[in-house]
Amino acid sequence: MKETKEFQTESKELLNLMINSIYSNNEIFLRELISNASDAIDKYRYQALSSKGEMPLNEFEINLSVDKKKRTITISDNGIGMSKEDLINNLGTIAKSGSKDFASKLKEAKEKQDLNIIGQFGVGFYSAFMVASKIEVLTKTYNGQGYLFTSDGQESYTIEEKDKETVGTEITIYLKKSSKEVDYDSYLEQYKIKNLVKKYSDYIRYPIKMMVTKSEQVLDKDGKPVEGKYEDKQVLETLNSMIPLWKKNKNEVTDEDLNEFYKNKFSDYENPLASLFVRVDGKITYDALLFIPSHIPYNLYSDSYERGLQLYSKGIFIKDKCQELIPDYLKFVKGLVDSGDFSLNISREMLQQSPIMQKISENVEKKIVDKLKDIKKTDFDKYVTFWKSFGELIKYGIYSTYGAKKELLQDALIFHSLNNEDKYISLADYKEKMAKDQKYIYFVSGENLDAIKLLPQLEKYRKNNVDVLLLDQKIDEFAIMMLHDYDKVEFKSISDESANEVSKEEQEKIDSVTADNKRLFDTLKEALAGKVNDVVVSSKLVDAPVCVSTKDGLSLEMEKTLNEQPGAEDTVKVEKILELNPNHPLFEAFTKVQNDDELVKNYASVLYEEAMLLEGREIVDKKAFVDKINELFIRAMK
Ligand code: ADP
Repeated sequence: MKETKEFQTESKELLNLMINSIYSNNEIFLRELISNASDAIDKYRYQALSSKGEMPLNEFEINLSVDKKKRTITISDNGIGMSKEDLINNLGTIAKSGSKDFASKLKEAKEKQDLNIIGQFGVGFYSAFMVASKIEVLTKTYNGQGYLFTSDGQESYTIEEKDKETVGTEITIYLKKSSKEVDYDSYLEQYKIKNLVKKYSDYIRYPIKMMVTKSEQVLDKDGKPVEGKYEDKQVLETLNSMIPLWKKNKNEVTDEDLNEFYKNKFSDYENPLASLFVRVDGKITYDALLFIPSHIPYNLYSDSYERGLQLYSKGIFIKDKCQELIPDYLKFVKGLVDSGDFSLNISREMLQQSPIMQKISENVEKKIVDKLKDIKKTDFDKYVTFWKSFGELIKYGIYSTYGAKKELLQDALIFHSLNNEDKYISLADYKEKMAKDQKYIYFVSGENLDAIKLLPQLEKYRKNNVDVLLLDQKIDEFAIMMLHDYDKVEFKSISDESANEVSKEEQEKIDSVTADNKRLFDTLKEALAGKVNDVVVSSKLVDAPVCVSTKDGLSLEMEKTLNEQPGAEDTVKVEKILELNPNHPLFEAFTKVQNDDELVKNYASVLYEEAMLLEGREIVDKKAFVDKINELFIRAMK
């Protein structure tokens, strides 16, 4: 006898969303049904094992088949099956209705007609109504009666007795008619089903089998292949590999395996720079495969790039690009995390708030950074390769967290330095090589290494053989500012006026030169008002006639970077000090004419522009500068 029953209210609401859905990710229905089939087999197996031999242990498998004429997909398993009550309780009622979160989300989604709820919640069996206009479930428990459940996912479903030979469940999906928006017919294609199984259910522990058509060479009567003659044959194929690589024993997994896995899964043509196979068993439990690519993914810095790791729960794929698993600064890392601590149907919000997720993420972050430090120690050249691609992001990690990750990241940093020319040095090495009386870790920044090496401020450090970190990336100084010190030694920009340590004698000399040329300095200051805040005698220049230093730890490079930010439009102005080299003939020339205020004023701007040029800046008023130079030529050549 056929009975018709109404769906429970909340089920109706959810089904309504499903049946009207044109959710682009509707392919997940197959994952959901396969996962249910796998669970059902788990349950049967467990019962059979505890039945002391009464229930047979079958060859467990999940079968897929497609009927193009009827436009159906069938998923069958030899699992636990469902009784009539089970059908009513499990399929007529939505299991998560107890969850408040779900009820309120559902209400919200209904009001806004928001289909994202489908992506936010694993919606199990009902997700099949995204692609189906009708579903039939034929099922039988061990020693039980067979039942047929049918529904169009609207108001009601029917249940009737129907004989079934084997224990288990067979679900037949009648596909919706394809429309402009969605091509449901694509699910009738072998390759599509195969791809979906590979993508979502590869690691299901039971074989997922399907009859596939294969083109094979025709054999002659002696069993020899006939050249050029092929025929289509039906072959039962297992579509999934069943054992996830990350579930194997660590010592069974070779580097080669990891490389191949990475290239297949993350579509890279090159082996990864490094792979990590992580297995954590403690308060949190997870397995992870993590990869550091050997080159920058082409879209890493574009908006289209989505960071994140794949998330699995006990071998079942939950979510791609799970951002919560990895901090932004490690966005170049590829990989997956499998943790039984998550349920399959966890919602996006729950994921974000999940303390387990946070713990795993912190743990993964630490593993990756430790691995990087390890490479740095054992294979510095390899680390340099890594650094050239991703070093900027590590520095961004320090900057963007306001120094909170200092302890974790500072020893992953490497820099170019004056004494290491085009090589790199770590902060620990820098500190180790410091002279006893050196108070600071010195650095200087600029557009690129070549420009930096020409900076006049470096002269004295070069002469005294004091090493200076050469910072050629915009983020560098900002990251260093967040670090503040390394192992209690402060960082100091050599462009900062306070960087220069002068002896008593030097100071006395500076003071006397300043006093002797008071009028010159006053005139220059007046002429350059608005450009520099002070004009002083320099103690740091050796060969160059002039330089510009700054105050309060803000450098010219930082000024430039900050002013390049959208909305800043040259609003940032650092305090600048023009320093003159008292030992340079140019200074002498100026002192000779210092009583001629007009002359000094006239050429003050040339001094300033010259200094800014050496700092790698552009001359703003090029015409005025050229005119002044020409005047000087004419004077000199008269
Ligand atoms: P979930 O799997 O998250 O519990 P579903 O809506 O997918 O939610 O399924 C509801 C219930 O229906 C399952 O918990 C299970 O008891 C039952 N069920 C679904 N598919 C099968 C199946 N193939 N065999 C046996 N029981 C099933």
